[in-house]
Amino acid sequence: MAAEPLTIIDAHIHYSAIDLFVDTARRVSHVDYSRWGLEAEMDDSGITAAVGMGLMETTRGGFPDPCAENPMALDLAPLPANLFCCLGINPQPLTEPDGVIYQARIEERLQDSSVVGLKLYPGYYPYPASHEVYDRVFGLARDWQLPVVIHAGDTASPRAILRLAHPLYISDLAVRYPEVTMVIAHVGNPWVMDVAVMLTNHENIHADLSGLILGDATAIDDFVQNRRLMDSIQTGLDYSGRFDKLLFGTDWPLVPMRPYIQFVKRLVPEKYWPYVFSRTAQRVFPRLRV
Ligand SMILES: [Zn+2]
Repeated sequence: MAAEPLTIIDAHIHYSAIDLFVDTARRVSHVDYSRWGLEAEMDDSGITAAVGMGLMETTRGGFPDPCAENPMALDLAPLPANLFCCLGINPQPLTEPDGVIYQARIEERLQDSSVVGLKLYPGYYPYPASHEVYDRVFGLARDWQLPVVIHAGDTASPRAILRLAHPLYISDLAVRYPEVTMVIAHVGNPWVMDVAVMLTNHENIHADLSGLILGDATAIDDFVQNRRLMDSIQTGLDYSGRFDKLLFGTDWPLVPMRPYIQFVKRLVPEKYWPYVFSRTAQRVFPRLRV
């Protein structure tokens, strides 16, 4: 009997007019960072839906931008089909006395059925994930029963504070909000072992496998051939054993999609592929329709 074709959801991409993405796509990953480029890559690699992480900058190269809109959306027009969104949170306005206005703005946007979750950028913005500035966001996630994707680990900006991007802050949140589903982006790389323990200990914690490599198909191949680099991630994943709580994601346009799928297949035992490539994303993002 022929095996069923694998349904693939890319649970973490970008689709914002951010200089860093435009520049990396052109010079490093050699990706066509446009609607047509995205649709062609999804088609070529059998990806049926993608989740874009909202992010904006008000000046070229401004990211992480304290003046960005709140919430932050996907602003690289025109929008392709089958692209969903996690609204990006700029915590700066939430610190203001009238921060409640921004809560109302976020709620207004949550009515849009293409919005499937919320996204935080700790470290890029100078607050750890567990900071009280995000209390309103977790309250909304609980009330609307939507997941929160949280950046953790290495950052793509020299202005980001790495300590504040450490994944262990998210353990505080997992305990404080046991009813909120959370996804740790990039399995917190390079702190993958810390995330492995959290996957085991906190039922509401998940992790995506995006952004573990930056570059083109050759860079992905070089990484796969380097046993020490592969082991640095594999050890944590195997230690946790919770492959059922991992989500496939690329961080496109920072890597091309098709070779990244092959890379993730190397890290995950084949029996878990249906979970990692689609089932877990559908469970974590209840609004996602594929
Ligand atoms: Zn990302």
